[in-house]
Amino acid sequence: MDLFQKCYDFTRADDIKALGFYPYFRAIEENEGPVVQIEGRKIVMAGSNNYLGLTAHPSVKEAALKAVEKYGTGCSGSRYLTGTLDLHIELESKLAEFFGTEAVLLYSTGYQTAQGIIPTLVQSRDEYVVSDKDNHACIVAGQMMAKGIMASLERYKHNDMADLERVLQKLPIDAGKLIVSDGVFSTGGEIVDLPRLVELAKKYNAKTLIDDAHSVGVIGKGGRGTASEFNLENEVDLTMGTFSKTFASLGGFVAGKERVINYLKHHSAALIFSASPTPAAVAAALAALDLLKKEPWRVPKLISNANKVRKELTEAGFKIIDGRTAIVPVIVGNDELAFAMWKKLYEAGVFVNVFISPGVPQGRQMMRTSYMSTHEDEHLDFIIDAFKKIGKELGLI
Ligand code: PMP
Repeated sequence: MDLFQKCYDFTRADDIKALGFYPYFRAIEENEGPVVQIEGRKIVMAGSNNYLGLTAHPSVKEAALKAVEKYGTGCSGSRYLTGTLDLHIELESKLAEFFGTEAVLLYSTGYQTAQGIIPTLVQSRDEYVVSDKDNHACIVAGQMMAKGIMASLERYKHNDMADLERVLQKLPIDAGKLIVSDGVFSTGGEIVDLPRLVELAKKYNAKTLIDDAHSVGVIGKGGRGTASEFNLENEVDLTMGTFSKTFASLGGFVAGKERVINYLKHHSAALIFSASPTPAAVAAALAALDLLKKEPWRVPKLISNANKVRKELTEAGFKIIDGRTAIVPVIVGNDELAFAMWKKLYEAGVFVNVFISPGVPQGRQMMRTSYMSTHEDEHLDFIIDAFKKIGKELGLI
């Protein structure tokens, strides 16, 4: 069989395009944050992870421009060799201070961060990755890399601490174990049961890695993420995150004890063999971090925006996965309805993310909506009204 035959046989995307329902790869022509321009039309954005709306903030833009002037457009090398700028070191130390950890290491994306940490720390048959079944794809990629080098992999039911204990109980007590979980789960927006998770980690001699991609700038004191949310700052061994959401940029990071970060720095292939984040990206993240510290109102505003939509759509009769983060998932239940709803929302001037199977289990097909602290009431009301009108048309409410 020709290796590429599967490519020629793959027609699902074309079929959906032919029906006019294709929601992916839509090119944004202008972006102010809550409102974007697509195909010449102004559309209210209800699907971005630009949680604090900082991609359009003048001081973030200016910081990026200045960095390009000073350092040029790229680093052309990995952190290990010629790609370290004073800016990288500044961002690492400011993040360490922000999270109250000994050290931080930057990676070029959040996705790479998980791939940089997991197979570097969990390496042999008697070392275990213990992972939530709903963890983000980058954690899955990291754990599969660890498995590829013969490390052991165990999974537990989503955010189910009884199941986590069932898994931990059967592993040798003195074996090295890394429990990995999203802090805020990227699809459903649920928060990990961190108090119980760290309790189990202690009881069964495991280390913990929490992915705070959707937590920083969203939960915790001053937006400091999941550990801070539960006053467990000293109990989580490693926290990873991204600059592609709250920090209005691109890149990833891991925070933890200096000796562990130092080890990753010298052994992590995803760091050593990939070019460092660009000057503009690092400077933008630094400026965003500064705003997060200086303008703490952005975090509660983000949550009150999301809560307004969550409350009104629930009251209107939609099936919502309840929560208290920036993510408000509206369940529609099958692929056809999901595409139809996406298209009608888009035509009405609202952009959301549509999640279909197999990305989500059957019955969990959803409009994943997410909010920004820069959404005004007029944007939120526009989104809510569109949902109500279209929900009625499609028989969802
Ligand atoms: N972790 C989670 C939970 C995410 O949702 C994402 C991005 N969607 C990432 C990591 C990857 O981050 P990045 O965009 O920086 O690659």
